[in-house]
Amino acid sequence: MPVSDAWHQRLAQARLSRQQTQRWRTRGVVAAGTLDFAGNDYLGLAQDPRVSEAQAEGARRFGSGAGASHLVSGHLEIHEALENALARWTGRQRALLFSTGYMANLGVLQALANADTAIFQDRLNHASLLDGATLSGARSRRFHHRDANDLNRLMDRSQCSHKLVVSDGVFSMDGDGADIATLAQVSQRHRAWLMIDDAHGVGVLGDNGSGCVGTRWGSADVPVLVGTLGKALGTAGAFVAGDAALIEHITQFARSYVYTTAQPPSIAAATLKALEIVQGEPEHRDHLNANIAYFRRGALQLGLPLSTSTTPIQPLLLGSEDRTLGWAATLAKHGLQVGAIRPPTVPNGEARLRITLSARHGRRDIDRLLEGLNACQRAEATCHA
Ligand SMILES: *Cc1c(COP(=O)(O)O)cnc(C)c1O
Repeated sequence: MPVSDAWHQRLAQARLSRQQTQRWRTRGVVAAGTLDFAGNDYLGLAQDPRVSEAQAEGARRFGSGAGASHLVSGHLEIHEALENALARWTGRQRALLFSTGYMANLGVLQALANADTAIFQDRLNHASLLDGATLSGARSRRFHHRDANDLNRLMDRSQCSHKLVVSDGVFSMDGDGADIATLAQVSQRHRAWLMIDDAHGVGVLGDNGSGCVGTRWGSADVPVLVGTLGKALGTAGAFVAGDAALIEHITQFARSYVYTTAQPPSIAAATLKALEIVQGEPEHRDHLNANIAYFRRGALQLGLPLSTSTTPIQPLLLGSEDRTLGWAATLAKHGLQVGAIRPPTVPNGEARLRITLSARHGRRDIDRLLEGLNACQRAEATCHA
């Protein structure tokens, strides 16, 4: 059999097994006029003309690409300015830019951990954190979601010389937050470092939108802070923030930092503008919070299976995958896009609609969403009648 056929056979088998479990995913091109309740542009900055203008101006001034990695000749003055602004914003000595959050998490974990390290992760942590731990070669343990007693128990058992506790700040599929105070306490009891990935907190929570850690918890409590720029900041990229020794170490040893081209300077220019808006215009956060409250009130009135989340991530736990896909399809017919989240992204039996709110939405948009959800309920009621 020719080699290529063996390969095609393998791909076909993988496809078939995914399709048999209804887990083959398709991309749709978003139709014009669709109302987006699936994305992570929580403050509407991805569509803010001031940010796009800063991006265009950045490209005119610095060119369309950085041309090299940061350690060669790609580290431009706009990158440096953005790193300094991110460090000030989060109350850290230094910050270091990465091209994506996925790369930041791979790089930080690979640079910090090795075979003599034990990494303790919340079970619901983002895939990039799990992959980073695997890449590092460390021993990995996962504790029950937000369960400090379980974490403590696992840490008591560990003989490793270096321990690192890792958690999402706001959990991406549930919208609930880590208990930073308790995590910091347990970490310190075991002389461990605590790393928080605040991808969904920065821009949205805390003073000046500095996140669930930000200026509230310093480097002594949360030595390693990661934030991403493609969500509330509306652009792309990520950063790690901490003391100078940490940032120097990551600069030297994180392979996903060293061996990649620096992000385009226009993106850094856009992010700097977005950061200025986040810090100077709290009204977008106020509007977002009013939207969250308005949606929750309406959803409760409809008797929808709301979670306790108070963040822009508002999952509706529907349980079965079929039901979740059915609701998402009905909503799509109403011109509403929501995330249909299924295993393996979430545990079996916990399929859900992941609804996200944004400061971009108006009351009328949320009313349309609630009407669409009500249509899903009615469709189900007729089936069962
Ligand atoms: C989105 C996300 C990432 C990845 O960030 P990208 O910049 O999209 O690569 C990392 N961690 C968490 C918790 C996320 O939600």
